Amino acid sequence: MEFVYFKGLMEDMGDLFMGRKICAICHEENDYCFALEYTISSIFEYKDQKGTFGCFKCLRDSKFEFWHSTELGFLDENGLMNTNTRKIYDPPIISEEKLVELRRTPQIITYQEEKWLTHCNDFMVFKGIWTPPDFYKNSPDGDGKTLFLAMTDDNIAHLWEESLPEGQEALEEWYPTYYVFECRHCNKLRGNWDCD
Ligand SMILES: [Zn+2]
Ligand SMILES: [Zn+2]
Repeated sequence: MEFVYFKGLMEDMGDLFMGRKICAICHEENDYCFALEYTISSIFEYKDQKGTFGCFKCLRDSKFEFWHSTELGFLDENGLMNTNTRKIYDPPIISEEKLVELRRTPQIITYQEEKWLTHCNDFMVFKGIWTPPDFYKNSPDGDGKTLFLAMTDDNIAHLWEESLPEGQEALEEWYPTYYVFECRHCNKLRGNWDCD
């Protein structure tokens, strides 16, 4: 199943169950379904959603949707809310069509709260999870640290140095999980991380 904003692995999708299930909305049997318990649905009362499943097609058709935490605020059925003012952005900073597209996108499995990154007035595309070797591989000149610093906001950029064992040149591993996003418009890479 293709998503505009999610190009990670299926195993990175929140509330996805492997194994055949009947979709409670279209009643078709599917190899993969999402648990509907914590989704936006105009079909079921919230209390009736527990223990039910919805398929990819019904998600793409907006029969149910996911809310998302983004770096600009919280996205739900009412729109994108500025978390500081608790108000829907007015004028909108991201177009309605893009808000709908992100709601039709699975959540990312994270340890803390999901934080979907944005760029060029749009949500970025989630590419997957990187470990330190991925930064070396994806850097044009093999300088993984420089790529990491270019992708990571200053307030969370201490991770690289902090994870590097004393006397070691190249970083091989770290404890947290690093989520990578790419801009659909300018291809800028950004990322954030969390841990349990
Ligand atoms: Zn369905
Ligand atoms: Zn961009």
